Amino acid sequence: WETDNFPWSSEAVAVLNETFKLNTFRPLQKSVINAVMSGEDTIIIMSTGGGKSLCYQLPAVLAKGLTLVVSPLISLIQDQLIQLKKLGIEAATINQGTSAQEVTRIQNAMIDPKSSLRLIYVTPEKLAKSKRFMSKLEKSAELKCLKLIAIDEVHCCSQWGHDFRPDYKFLHMLKKQLKGVPVLGLTATATGNVLADVKAILGVETAIVFKAGFNRENLYYEVRPKPASNDAVLEDLLELLKGRFKGQTGIVYCFSRKECEELAGELRQNGVTAGAYHAYLEPEVRERCHERWLSGKVRVIVATVAFGMGIDKPDVRFVIHHSLSKSMETYYQESGRAGRDGQPATCILYYRFADVFRVSTMVCTEKVGTQNLYSVVSYATMTSGCRRVAIADHFDETWDESWCNKMCDNCRSGKKASSTVDPLKFLPTAKEIIQSQTTNTKNNSGRVTAPKLAELVHKKLSKTDSRESVEYALARLILDGYLAEDFHFTPYAIIGYVVAGSRRQMPDLSDSSHKRKDNDSIASS
Ligand code: ADP
Repeated sequence: WETDNFPWSSEAVAVLNETFKLNTFRPLQKSVINAVMSGEDTIIIMSTGGGKSLCYQLPAVLAKGLTLVVSPLISLIQDQLIQLKKLGIEAATINQGTSAQEVTRIQNAMIDPKSSLRLIYVTPEKLAKSKRFMSKLEKSAELKCLKLIAIDEVHCCSQWGHDFRPDYKFLHMLKKQLKGVPVLGLTATATGNVLADVKAILGVETAIVFKAGFNRENLYYEVRPKPASNDAVLEDLLELLKGRFKGQTGIVYCFSRKECEELAGELRQNGVTAGAYHAYLEPEVRERCHERWLSGKVRVIVATVAFGMGIDKPDVRFVIHHSLSKSMETYYQESGRAGRDGQPATCILYYRFADVFRVSTMVCTEKVGTQNLYSVVSYATMTSGCRRVAIADHFDETWDESWCNKMCDNCRSGKKASSTVDPLKFLPTAKEIIQSQTTNTKNNSGRVTAPKLAELVHKKLSKTDSRESVEYALARLILDGYLAEDFHFTPYAIIGYVVAGSRRQMPDLSDSSHKRKDNDSIASS
């Protein structure tokens, strides 16, 4: 589908350049547009920010008819309407707030072959509720005014997905009632069973599915050990910002609002123009910070996860995570804001053992919170092997180290075979300490937190092993289920203690075949 031999190909490029003011298509956009314009039912799976909207907005202009867009949130619809208006593309929405007069105007336009209305946005609730609107749509399809149905966040159809919405089930009638109109489903997340479910529900079993590969070949992935003291972290960061990234623009993601403000202040004191961005700022302040960064007045934006949606600066040269993200998905998305222009860019994650437990006590109440967190920890503690393998695993894709092109720290330094200590070596000592801490004291007050456990294990073994290798090993033992976190809720905080594992049977340490298996999983995870 990725060719320029379709009757509309040259016009598609002209619309891209002149109407959308964009230079080139991003990966898969052209294919999806060609499939949709050919009348095929199509599904596109592409991470957030990849550019899915263009896959129906551009055909909407090209087809010179009407496109129905089903979108879950009125706020998202409003954002798109504002953008389209700026581009001079006529679009509308009907919701509870729309005046009767406006509804009539829109509904007339929907069945007028000469109308210049290109997109009509509705929520699934609106479709489910309004029979009148549905019958206008049917008429529009009969008259061949309606050219395409785009369904955003299409995974919401499926109960298997993480985001099921009952009103999406109703969309099964679109394909039946609006005969001959192709459907385009868009989503950032759809595993195999969700996809099959979505196809069955929408009645688009033969849909062509395009899945954007996770790989961003211009991004260099690196994990840096995070020093124990904040001063030392700052020093390391300043060295990067004034050395390797001198004069370049980027983002530093922090754990909390407080950390964000402190770090931005410290960077400024040290001569780096930096602005803090988090959810607690007044909207105007936040917007000004964003704008100063976009225009290059501020070189570094120091942000929490609040800095996300709608960020599209093409020349971001680095994204540094000052703390762990809470999931691989989040890390991939946040780090993926680097290098949108296709030029080389760097993604650095600062990792220290203690940070895991800061995040885990925060996410332990979420259903799969710790599981998601451990996938990033697994990425961060890979001492060998291609980092893209961990990312690929997360997105159910296969990856071969030889494709990395030395674009991650491990591939660049040539660390292939597992060169570090065997984590199981530390298990007996760890268990011994956990047991002594738990049973020797009254009221269970001797329960041991992970950083404390690392300290005590290291104390015992300091003659032979570094603190770093102890921390690395303990993290692996937790990831692999030999040790587990046990969360306790107090009125003031959630505390995570380490206990002997429960997720997996204790291994027989004398069994070398087990060890080998485990080492493999360490090397490849
Ligand atoms: P998604 O829906 O996949 O999350 P969007 O459609 O919102 O992503 O697009 C994200 C950003 O990428 C938008 O700011 C959009 O203008 C920009 N974009 C989309 N396609 C292109 C392109 N071909 N070239 C440059 N920027 C693009």
